[in-house]
Amino acid sequence: MSELTHPLIKDGWFMEISDTMWPGQAMSLKVEKILHVEQSLYQDVLIFQSTDYGNVLVLDGAIQVTERDEFSYQEMIAHLALNSHPNPRKVLVIGGGDGGVLREVIKHECVEKAVLCDIDEAVPRLSKIYLPEMAKSYKHPKVTLHIGDGFKFLDEYKNTFDVIITDSSDPEGPAASLFEKPYFKLLNDALTEKGVITTQGENIWLHMEIIKNLKKACLEVFPVVEYAYCTIPTYPSGQIGFMVCSKDPNASLKFPLRSFSDTFEKEHLRYYNKKIHEASFILPTWARDALDF
Ligand code: SAM
Repeated sequence: MSELTHPLIKDGWFMEISDTMWPGQAMSLKVEKILHVEQSLYQDVLIFQSTDYGNVLVLDGAIQVTERDEFSYQEMIAHLALNSHPNPRKVLVIGGGDGGVLREVIKHECVEKAVLCDIDEAVPRLSKIYLPEMAKSYKHPKVTLHIGDGFKFLDEYKNTFDVIITDSSDPEGPAASLFEKPYFKLLNDALTEKGVITTQGENIWLHMEIIKNLKKACLEVFPVVEYAYCTIPTYPSGQIGFMVCSKDPNASLKFPLRSFSDTFEKEHLRYYNKKIHEASFILPTWARDALDF
């Protein structure tokens, strides 16, 4: 073990505890080595090498990404939106400082410009060192990184982006404002005519009230709003959802407008495919009924 210590790592195990977001349960990962501990301007940053999930980024005690399963979330949050737009050329990512969503965005050749705005410079800085497969996207010529609050950043743009992806942490701390109606109003204004958004939509087993409020807020702004999810072992309860919204009242988000070739899917994608795009919107009965408004 390294010299570094962190209060959430005891006896060689990291334990993800939150009395508010996932009371009474805790995901544990076995730690090989603590790589970095830092209190940034906004959050507690912990990076460790796990025995079975590669390097892990933890912010304020919550797992953000692990090298082993990050592709599930990153591919889904990106391609659900991008393949629901007829021709996404300008794309904005809010949050997502590890760079993984950007990596997916630039897989679409039609994208001419991809901008990422994360509030915390520590996340891209440390991801470039410890999460290189995600942060390699920062080297791409189409990519621009902006450090600042996504809420404030959006206020400066009108009718600019075809797709906006909000890859935020949970609605506590700096990301709280990214789950409320004024934020969706700003997103709507920053989008071009047929613009599409996806936003991190939490877990149906744990956060139904948050998801309902999120959907209500989105429906007050966007004419078409749908909820999808993916499976991912290291997010609480093994699943995470996405709210997908379009400005186009005729959009049918459940069926992709564009798709990758079978060869491209095989070579460049590990989770997302045409069929899973459609299947990800099919919810278990109780969740479907809870979100049927
Ligand atoms: N998918 C991950 C999850 O659900 O745990 C989120 C990963 S990503 C690293 C979350 C990022 O959102 C962090 O880097 C954090 O700094 C950023 N963030 C939080 N609040 C923000 C805000 N108001 N504006 C921009 N970025 C924000």
